[in-house]
Amino acid sequence: MGLSKTIWTKPAEHLLAYHPDEPVLYFAPAVLQATARKFLEGFPGLVTYAVKSNPDEVVLSNLVAAGVNGFDVASPFEMELVSRVAPGAAMHYNNPVRSRSEIATAVRLGCASYSVDSHSELDKLIEMVPAAGTEITVRFKLPVSGAAYNFGAKFGADAEKAAVLLKRVAGAGFIPSITFHPGTQCTDPMAWDAYIRKAAWIAAEAGVPIARLNVGGGFPSHRLAELAPQLDEIFALIDRVTDEAFGADRPVLVCEPGRAMVAESYTLAVRIKALRDDDHVFMNDGIYGGLAELPLIGVIDRIEVLSPDLNPRQGAVRPRICFGPTCDSVDRLPGEIALPGDMAEGDYMLFHGMGAYSTATVTRFNGFGNIGIETVYSFKD
Ligand SMILES: *Cc1c(COP(=O)(O)O)cnc(C)c1O
Repeated sequence: MGLSKTIWTKPAEHLLAYHPDEPVLYFAPAVLQATARKFLEGFPGLVTYAVKSNPDEVVLSNLVAAGVNGFDVASPFEMELVSRVAPGAAMHYNNPVRSRSEIATAVRLGCASYSVDSHSELDKLIEMVPAAGTEITVRFKLPVSGAAYNFGAKFGADAEKAAVLLKRVAGAGFIPSITFHPGTQCTDPMAWDAYIRKAAWIAAEAGVPIARLNVGGGFPSHRLAELAPQLDEIFALIDRVTDEAFGADRPVLVCEPGRAMVAESYTLAVRIKALRDDDHVFMNDGIYGGLAELPLIGVIDRIEVLSPDLNPRQGAVRPRICFGPTCDSVDRLPGEIALPGDMAEGDYMLFHGMGAYSTATVTRFNGFGNIGIETVYSFKD
């Protein structure tokens, strides 16, 4: 780095100065803090952040600066990280299956909230975790609806079993709560409607008033240009349905967004290595790098193509197959992507909304994946 400047006005300024041949993720702390405020002001309850979606320390410290003081964690590594970067923040250990040594670490680090979806794992918690002042949230699932893929495939008890577990939690002296995750990138608000009403049914069936209802992550980020997420609508629905379903026994609400909190604060710039015979696009990053999620939950079409002198390509669009840099033939973006017809070798493609499940899952497969991170004020001009 030859320049002393460390915060760029926007990605194009850095690209013009360095013409990087490796992919770069641009991080805008101001965008992250604005999103955090949107959750803190809009969500009718406690806002926590799901660390797994982007565990970068600067992400956590910017969230703390914005006022977030609770974190959904899944492993000793994440608990140590939160303890270091956000000392005193609440940790919700919402990975329903844990080894005994992991539970011991959580107790040592002062974790006071655990989720559970099975009798065997509840047995372990009852044995190892002091009950007084500790919350156990029973995680349940419904047949999937609305989300990009099925979270219930791995975790969550059915409603009947959840009621039995909830009774056991209360009987063992823990603070009883309920949680669910409607599935990631859940664009259908009615998923929360169904889950919240079923949660009220579970509490009634168990005869256990619950302290808190954690409505999960799953809040959508902006992936498709024409489909902007409607967070306010989802917040209002959660508030209204909780009232309707629980009445006087309304629990305190908790949410734990990962994707919707962090996605918008990163833009990924990849460079076009080649347009093979003016047809296939070969990028310097792909599904083993920052674009790992696209084949799993669908493409992000918020893409700008910039020439090497950083002017936008504006030619008539044509659909293209886009490949990543490795020699693995699955290293390809799903389908065909409409891109400007005048794009050329050496151009940059900017993928917006790339902050979630990108830095967290990059590999160095085939020697690629050396993604730089730069800080910007903004992604706009
Ligand atoms: C991954 C995860 C989240 C975050 O999900 P997003 O879809 O990224 O919002 C929240 N809670 C739990 C328990 C998770 O495993």
